[in-house]
Amino acid sequence: MERELTCIVCPMGCRITVKMRNGKVEGVSGNTCPRGERYAIDECTDPKRTLTTTMRCENGEVIPVKTDRAIPKDKMFECMKIINSSVVSPPVLIGDVIIENVFGANIVATKNVMQKEK
Ligand code: SF4
Repeated sequence: MERELTCIVCPMGCRITVKMRNGKVEGVSGNTCPRGERYAIDECTDPKRTLTTTMRCENGEVIPVKTDRAIPKDKMFECMKIINSSVVSPPVLIGDVIIENVFGANIVATKNVMQKEK
């Protein structure tokens, strides 16, 4: 079996072909550099993604958050469930860790949210 991928590691966007047999990589071609080979092997054997989403705040606002590194693609739904069942308390600053160690990544804020004046 062959899989065709577009490498997303750099803007060159090389078209990479991965030959697979029984779930194992037999060969990679079309990559211009070793980073593309690594990307293609990971994408075919252990795909990962950075999750970008939003989370509820106690003050009613919604704050944008993301994982601080890529997590296994098949854990995205479970990660969303964890985020959706949590509520963050302002103040929150960009980069603050909101939830620690979710499938190997921290959930961090990507926007500042201050407490509302009473
Ligand atoms: S294979 Fe190398 S040169 Fe080509 S897109 Fe990937 S990182 Fe860039």
